[in-house]
Parts: sequence; C-alpha cells; structure tokens
Amino acid sequence: MKEIFVDLDKCVGCLTCTLACAAEHSNSKDIVGAMLEKVRSRIAVESVGGKPVPLMCRHCEEPACVDACMTGAMQKDKVTGIVTNEGHEQKCVGCWMCIMACPYGVITPVEGETRLALKCDRCGGKEVPACVASCPQGALIYDEAKVVAELRRHNAAQLAMSKAV
Ligand code: SF4
Ligand code: SF4
Repeated sequence: MKEIFVDLDKCVGCLTCTLACAAEHSNSKDIVGAMLEKVRSRIAVESVGGKPVPLMCRHCEEPACVDACMTGAMQKDKVTGIVTNEGHEQKCVGCWMCIMACPYGVITPVEGETRLALKCDRCGGKEVPACVASCPQGALIYDEAKVVAELRRHNAAQLAMSKAV
C-alpha cells in the first residue's frame, strides 16, 4: 500500500496541489471548469507560523472516521487501503460524525442539495494522485508505506537534532 509523504522543507505554499485536486474531481477535469463547477479541494494548505503545511487524509490503518460513520458509507478498501464515503451502496447523510472523529481535521462538511463529508479519495486509485503529480516543488511523495515510514523517521530525527542544538 502506498502513502503520501509531505516534505515540509520543499513546500512553498503555491496551492497548485489544491487546484489540481479540484480539477481532478470536476466534470471538466480542468482548473477553470472546476472553478465554474465550484468544486472544492480535498487537500488544504494551512499556514503555521508563516510556513505552509499541506494537509490531507492519511487513510489511517484503523480509521476513526470509519468507526464513527453511522450509515456505513465511510469504508476502508481492504486491497487499496483507500478510505472513502463515496461509491458505496451506503450513502453519506451528512451527520458529520466522521468530521468530529478524525484527529487530523481533514474532512470538510459540504452542504448543498445533499450533504457530503468531503475528503481525499486518493483520486479513486489513480496511479499517482493529482496533488502529487502537480506539485512543482516535489514536496509530495507517493511511495510504499515502508519508504514513507523511513522518510518520516528521517524527518523526526532531524527535528530532534534541531531541538537539541
Ligand atoms: S503544490 Fe507542492 S509546493 Fe505547492 S502548496 Fe502544494 S505541496 Fe506545497
Ligand atoms: S479522514 Fe481522518 S480518520 Fe479518516 S482515514 Fe483520513 S485521516 Fe484517518
């Protein structure tokens, strides 16, 4: 199973990933069309102390959102590991229980004709998610969980060193 690693040192906060996400989930599959369709991005770039931090669903091993979903719409695919509340027989009714349960704050409530808890669906299993493919800085890396774990470990070690000096 693959995961997305965010290299915070490389992110410049250009928001290209958010535009690419909206375009990927639009009918037109382009950015202008996505804006006209009012498609929302499923990835957010927060500013923390002036530093951009891209945030998206981690497709957790034991997802709190799945446990919290009362209709069973939120499911984790046993093969791909993707967590999504779309494309299943059970439908999202917009009770927002998953939003309250997710420890990372990466689900957005969308209210229109229908209510939907909007989250990353890893572009429906595309070989490379749109956000990763679009990042001009190479700040988003999509690789096997083992490789991502090594990258995270390296980052944590660097952080520990910077705090020690
Ligand atoms: S596209 Fe890359 S550099 Fe731009 S905000 Fe997203 S992660 Fe950061
Ligand atoms: S929405 Fe939150 S709890 Fe659910 S899989 Fe993604 S990060 Fe985990």
